Amino acid sequence: MIELENSHLYVGLREENGAIVSLRDPSNGREYVEAGRLGDDVFRLETEAGTSGGFRGFTYEVRQGEGYRECLLRWQSEAGPVVTGTIRLREDADQLEFRCGVDNAADGPPVISLEYPILSGLGAITDGGEDDVVIHSFATGFQVRNPLKHFRQDGMGFRYMPYPESFSGAAMQFFAYYGKGRGGLYFAALDPEGYAKWLNFYKNDCGRLEASFIHACEDIGAGKGIEVPYAMEMRLLRGRGWPEAAGLYKAWAVQQPWCARGTLAERRERGDVELFRWLYEEAGAATFGINAGYDRTKWLRKYRERIGTPLFHILGPDWSNAPQTFGRGVPGGYDDWFPTRFNPDNIACIREQGDRFAPFEFDYLFNFGGADGERARAAAQRFPEDKKSIDAYRFPFLCPAAPFTREFHRRRDEALQREADVDAIYYDISANNILKTCLDESHGHPVGGGKAINGAYRTNYAETKAAMGQVAGRYVPMGTEMMNETVLDVLDFYQARAGGQPAAPLEGYPFRDLLKSGDAELVPLFAYVYHEYGPVRLDGWGKLTAEIGDLFYFTVARTYLWGGLYELNYEYSPMEALDGVENGSDEHYAVFEPRGYAFAEERAGYLGLFAALRTGAGNKYLAYGEMLPPLPLDSGRVTLDWFHYNHGIGSPEYNDAGSLSVERIVHAVWKYRDESVGLFFANIGEEVREVAVCPGDLPVSELVTEMRCHVYSPGPELRRSETVQTNARELKLTIPPRSVVLLEALLHP
Ligand SMILES: [Zn+2]
Repeated sequence: MIELENSHLYVGLREENGAIVSLRDPSNGREYVEAGRLGDDVFRLETEAGTSGGFRGFTYEVRQGEGYRECLLRWQSEAGPVVTGTIRLREDADQLEFRCGVDNAADGPPVISLEYPILSGLGAITDGGEDDVVIHSFATGFQVRNPLKHFRQDGMGFRYMPYPESFSGAAMQFFAYYGKGRGGLYFAALDPEGYAKWLNFYKNDCGRLEASFIHACEDIGAGKGIEVPYAMEMRLLRGRGWPEAAGLYKAWAVQQPWCARGTLAERRERGDVELFRWLYEEAGAATFGINAGYDRTKWLRKYRERIGTPLFHILGPDWSNAPQTFGRGVPGGYDDWFPTRFNPDNIACIREQGDRFAPFEFDYLFNFGGADGERARAAAQRFPEDKKSIDAYRFPFLCPAAPFTREFHRRRDEALQREADVDAIYYDISANNILKTCLDESHGHPVGGGKAINGAYRTNYAETKAAMGQVAGRYVPMGTEMMNETVLDVLDFYQARAGGQPAAPLEGYPFRDLLKSGDAELVPLFAYVYHEYGPVRLDGWGKLTAEIGDLFYFTVARTYLWGGLYELNYEYSPMEALDGVENGSDEHYAVFEPRGYAFAEERAGYLGLFAALRTGAGNKYLAYGEMLPPLPLDSGRVTLDWFHYNHGIGSPEYNDAGSLSVERIVHAVWKYRDESVGLFFANIGEEVREVAVCPGDLPVSELVTEMRCHVYSPGPELRRSETVQTNARELKLTIPPRSVVLLEALLHP
């Protein structure tokens, strides 16, 4: 046995192949690896001939360095190239650092990827795995309970999770597996440069869980190896829930270049966000997919009037000259986009009532049979056959690094700004949904090129945004479908849908059955790590109809309390019937069936409460604040029904319905700079609830000078505020039905 050991961690490696056969916490004796249930591979090397962990020779060397001990590993792979690995244990930490690479001979075969480390043989941590959880930055943050039970060999699991790709992969570079209250393992890659990689946690052939990282070759070619310039780390957890792991990651993440501009609050102080304050402070809710090309003023007026705050509308794709549709074609080059076809009454109505809008645009999808098709064909993104993703990326994509794309991206939206004077721009199926690789040799990037491709997306966003801002004479916020940390500093908002699951489609779909049973759920990992730095999340996939079910009340509350804006979505089904009339499929960009579901006034009023909270007393927390761990709160659960009719008629979840058990009180804690802490409690049920809070339990070290309570509840008054005693041992908060309470603690400066 090769051993690395300190008082915090014991690691044992097999001398024959370097496999990790023991990972033990000496403080309690907990062993994480079942040595008898390891998989076969210590690494997996991918070449054009396939993927293999086979090797002809293995050597190792243990070295003592200053403050650490490390083991250097070297495999002569069967495919030819030499695979190297390093495992380093610091003297005084429960922290393992991994490094790896591939050395190739001058005549060696092209290498495509390396999977290392592979930590195999992970079993249950709590009895029967019942209280075990895996959290992953898939789709900005998911957790799955008892993965040993729910994951499937070659099926359900986080097997191939590309980064940065948050629709089908990872938005950040960490994941963790822990047993509640017992302990666990945290894994992270510490790469500030956007290299393409995969963060994996899955069930292997011998029925145990396995964690691994795959590293893409940045420059694929004969005789070339893989340099992996970043380290990966593994640490022990105490089993204190997702904030423990997210907190470890955050300590590193906010030091990286994408946070270099400072927090939104700091930027506001500098005057940076002055020009798009509307997005953070004025917009109380969002709509998505309302027809841009047809008169929808009746609905626009109704939403504004009943929700009560300005709204942010991402209008549907039906504004381009050649049709931009879902499944029935997209435009090609410049001439296919202009002149635009925005309905002038919609735009006038939006302006008149103080709302804002962004057009929907497939910025990287291209009709190669349309305008400039010949030139564009040379700029098409070339994917590998084996994509290592749950996604097939079956769209006609442009490679972002190709000179044609760069020029076209900027020129099109500069012209759009000039012609339509948009308030913001929204890109669908864009950088945050696409695998970062291109095998074309003529685009000016290395073959493979994950980091180069990621960099090209960043450049295109930045250049286009600058050009649009120049034309507009003001800052033009830019947003995308989904979000990754690598583009945090060039984008301002994102659309997500996982918060609406299971009454929503798209991201999260591989876990749909577990989302329906409640064994998988969204966790606010991205918000916990980055909220005070960046983009506004739009989520919810909602409609103001009674037919979508009562899960609506939960989804609205959680979306706001996790720092987002609730999104009413009109992409795949009609708008609410007003006076018995809804919009028809013949005027839409996707085919849908009539519904005749009436606009629900009461639901609009409920949404209006949260819009008022977001733009009112809750604004500094929900728009600018830093998320803190929630208080342990047990106020019971409630089962709510849902009905999902807003998706493609042919999709498997169309017309799916069910019920879901959720917390009766939705709760979150936020901090605004060092000035105050806000505790939010939303009662989603129909009865009055009480919550007891001990001021001593507040997650702050500073002295609380004053406490205020803000109650937002239905009715003419909407909002009441009062000062509460700070010296009470326990505060009893009364939360009216379907209402939200903000308890604010002002901290001593
Ligand atoms: Zn390319």
